[in-house]
Amino acid sequence: MSDALLSVEGVSVRYGDFSAAESVSFSIERGHIVSLIGLNGAGKTTIVNTVMGLHKPESGRIVFKGEDITSLSTEKIVSRGLSLVPQGGRCFNRMSVQDNLLMGSYPRTARKKAKQTLEHVYELFPVLEEMKKRPAGTLSGGQRQMVAIGRALMACPDCLIFDEISLGLSPAVIKDIYNRIIKINREEKTSILLIEQDTKRALGASDSFCVMLKGRVVLSGSSSEIDPETLKKAYFGI
Ligand code: ATP
Repeated sequence: MSDALLSVEGVSVRYGDFSAAESVSFSIERGHIVSLIGLNGAGKTTIVNTVMGLHKPESGRIVFKGEDITSLSTEKIVSRGLSLVPQGGRCFNRMSVQDNLLMGSYPRTARKKAKQTLEHVYELFPVLEEMKKRPAGTLSGGQRQMVAIGRALMACPDCLIFDEISLGLSPAVIKDIYNRIIKINREEKTSILLIEQDTKRALGASDSFCVMLKGRVVLSGSSSEIDPETLKKAYFGI
């Protein structure tokens, strides 16, 4: 029996006449890390936003913890245990780091344990505790990305989705953030979906992968067993 926590089942999404995702299917098992990789415009963000209820699919469904969540609002999806760290480490720049983090604990169950979760986020990212009173807009790109991750963690998710967290960050900061993502996965058993263009980094961190090209999943499998040549052909469509 499949132990899928999240299943994307035959999801198609259109923007007007344009088909951005065609019958996309993949799943994430409990405690696993899955990477969804592909070139610019492959449809990765479209799929992630659809999972989070920001787009409604034309067909297909999304199942989380055995429940069909396809037609739920984003707020309800977050309260069920799915959290997204959006592209670019978006923060409320004028708000303090701590208030940014607390914004993430709006689901009722998360609100009850917000103090405890905040302490945990500060343990994971000590620099955020040092800067907790500073406006988030004064932090570096890497630190703002940490705020965005911390905010997603404040919702106490069972599954965390990272949309291209490496974008615009230095290799040292990316390495540091990836180490912390792996720590979150190992210590809290949080399932993770990594959206990436950096295939090497994504495959190094994940148990399994899917490659998207022009709105379709063109290759999937175990990250440790992938043949580089097959991956290259699928990734570039050659
Ligand atoms: P990136 O790595 O650049 O974020 P991606 O793989 O996440 O790329 P999407 O952002 O999902 O790809 O975009 C898939 C396709 O849908 C692209 O061709 C994009 O131009 C198009 N697209 C995305 N959002 C919209 C929209 N709101 N309206 C029309 N077309 C869109």
